[in-house]
Amino acid sequence: MHTDARELDDDSLIEGDICIVGAGAAGITMAMEWLNTSRKVILLEGGGFDYDDRVQELYRGASTGQHYFPLKSTRLHYFGGTTGHWGGFCSILDPIDFTRRTWVNESGWPITQQDVIPFYQRAHAYLDLGPYDYSAAYWQRQNPAFVPLPLDDALVWSKVWRFSPPTRYGTKYRAPLVNAGNIALYTYANLVDIIADESVSAITEVVVKNYAGKTHRVRAGCFVLACSGIQNARLLLAANRQASRGLGNSHDLVGRYFMEHIELKSAELWLTRPGALTFYQLNPVARVELALSAGQQEEHGILNGTASLTPLERARGIKPTIEAWSKDDPRQNRDDLHENHAKAAGSRIARLFRSKGHRAFELATRMEQAPNPSSRVTLDTEKDELGVPRAALHWQLSPLDKRSIRKLYQVIGQAMGAAGIGRVRLMDFLRDENDDSWPSFTGGGWHHIGTTRMSDNPATGVVDRDCRVFGIDNLYVAGSSCYPTAGAANPTLTLVALALRLSDHLKDRFSAGFPPILKGRP
Ligand SMILES: Cc1cc2nc3c(=O)[nH]c(=O)nc-3n(C[C@H](O)[C@H](O)[C@H](O)COP(=O)(O)OP(=O)(O)OC[C@H]3O[C@@H](n4cnc5c(N)ncnc54)[C@H](O)[C@@H]3O)c2cc1C
Repeated sequence: MHTDARELDDDSLIEGDICIVGAGAAGITMAMEWLNTSRKVILLEGGGFDYDDRVQELYRGASTGQHYFPLKSTRLHYFGGTTGHWGGFCSILDPIDFTRRTWVNESGWPITQQDVIPFYQRAHAYLDLGPYDYSAAYWQRQNPAFVPLPLDDALVWSKVWRFSPPTRYGTKYRAPLVNAGNIALYTYANLVDIIADESVSAITEVVVKNYAGKTHRVRAGCFVLACSGIQNARLLLAANRQASRGLGNSHDLVGRYFMEHIELKSAELWLTRPGALTFYQLNPVARVELALSAGQQEEHGILNGTASLTPLERARGIKPTIEAWSKDDPRQNRDDLHENHAKAAGSRIARLFRSKGHRAFELATRMEQAPNPSSRVTLDTEKDELGVPRAALHWQLSPLDKRSIRKLYQVIGQAMGAAGIGRVRLMDFLRDENDDSWPSFTGGGWHHIGTTRMSDNPATGVVDRDCRVFGIDNLYVAGSSCYPTAGAANPTLTLVALALRLSDHLKDRFSAGFPPILKGRP
C-alpha cells in the first residue's frame, strides 16, 4: 500500500509493528524481508518516487576540513535512495577488516567476517550480483582470459570485485512493496523528530513532515533508522529535546569517526612488455584489483587498500612509449626495460600478454581511512525547510592514511619487480616520506561510513552488535554508519548484508515476544 503523506489530514496518526525510516538500499532491503508476514511494516520515505529538488535541498550542509563533495549531491533523497545513481561496484570486506589491529586505533568489529558471510550470500540476490564467489580461481574457470598476475601473495593478492547491473532499488522493488498488504509505504514523510519515553529507554513515536505543511505522528513497536551515513547521525543528534546531546549520544560518539574510501590516482605501472591484463579491466561481471596482504598491513603498520589498473592511454589520453618513461624518470632507461623483458620471456606471465596489450597502467587507490574521532558530522546552526538543523561535515584525514597509500604502492612495486612483470612509479605527492599533505585531487567514493559505530561497549560505540542503539530498547540503525572501520571494499554490499542480519534479529526478537504491545503507549 502506498500513501503520499501530503494527501493525509494534518496531524494524522500512523501505527504499525515496525517503522523503517528511509527507503534506500538498507531500508528497502529490510522492508522486503517482511513482505507478506503477519507484521505491519511502515516504510517512511522523505521524498517521492521521482527526484524533487525541494526535497533534495534538505540534504544541503556545510563542509570543512578535507575538501569534499557538496553534501546536497552525495546522496539521493527519494524512493530508492542513492541506488538511483550508484555504480554497482561491490566486494566483500576481508577477514582482517573485522579484527582488532594493534596498529589501527579503535579498530575491531564485535562480529567477524564469518558472521556476515551467510548474509553476503543473500545480499547477492538483492543486488543482482550473480553467484557468490570471490575467488580468482572461480573467475578464471568462467573466462580463460581472466588470468591474475603471478605475484607473491604474501605481498599482494588479487581481490575480486563484482558488478551489480547496477540495481536501482526504486525501480526493482517499488511494485512488490506497493502491492504488499502488510507494507505501508509513505512518501513525502520526512522524519524530523524522534520521541522517547520518560526514561529515554524506548522510542514511542516519530514525527514526520513535508513541505505541504503537514505533520504526522508514527507509532510502532520498533524503529529502524535507515537514512544513510550522514543523515542517520544528523537525525539522532537533532533529536535532542529529551537527551540534550541527542539520542544514543551519552558518550559523545554520534557523528564521530566519519570515514570515506580515499580514492586517489597515485602511481603508474609500466610493464616489461605490453599486456592486456583483461581480468583487471572493467568487465561486465567481475574484475580484480591488487590488494595488500594482511601480513604486509601488519608488518608495516598500515591500513587496508587496493589498487585498480586502467590503461594509461584510456586514463589520460597518453600513448605510452619507452621514450616517455625514460623522459619522465631519468632513473629508468631502455636497458632496464629490455632486461626485465628478457627475464619475463618464457615464464608463465607470457600468457598474460598479448601483442595488442598496453605498456602502462594508471594505478588508482581505494584506501581504508583510519577511524578518527575528529572526522565528524555535527549539527549546523542553519535549519532546513522542515526545521531540522543541517548537517555539518568535517572530513579529516591522518598521516597514517597517507603513509598507507605510499606503502601500498611500494609493496606493489616490490611484488612487480620480483616477478619481472614491470615497475611502479609513484606520483610526486607520494615521494617525500615526510610529506603528510594531500593533493587537491584527493577524493572519496561517495561512501559515508562510521558515524554510528558498532561496538560491544557503550563507551566506544553507538550501536551494539545487533545494530541497536545502546540504552534504547527499540531503536536500530541500518547502513554503513554502523561500521567501526571501513575496509577497502565499497560499502553497499556489506550494508545490505547487515540489513538482512538485522531483519533476522528482529524476527527472532518478535518471536520471543518483543516488542511490548503498542496498547498503553502514550
Ligand atoms: C555517485 C555514487 C556512486 C556510488 N557507487 C557505489 C558503488 O559503486 N558501490 C557501492 O558499494 N556504493 C556506491 N555508492 C554508495 C551507495 O549509493 C550507498 O552506499 C547506498 O546507497 C547507501 O544505502 P542507504 O540505504 O544507507 O542510503 P540511501 O540509499 O541514500 O537511502 C537513504 C534513504 O533515506 C531517505 N531519507 C533520508 N532522510 C530521511 C528522513 N529524514 N525521513 C525519511 N526518509 C529519509 C532518503 O530519501 C533515501 O531514500 C555510490 C554513491 C554515489 C553517490
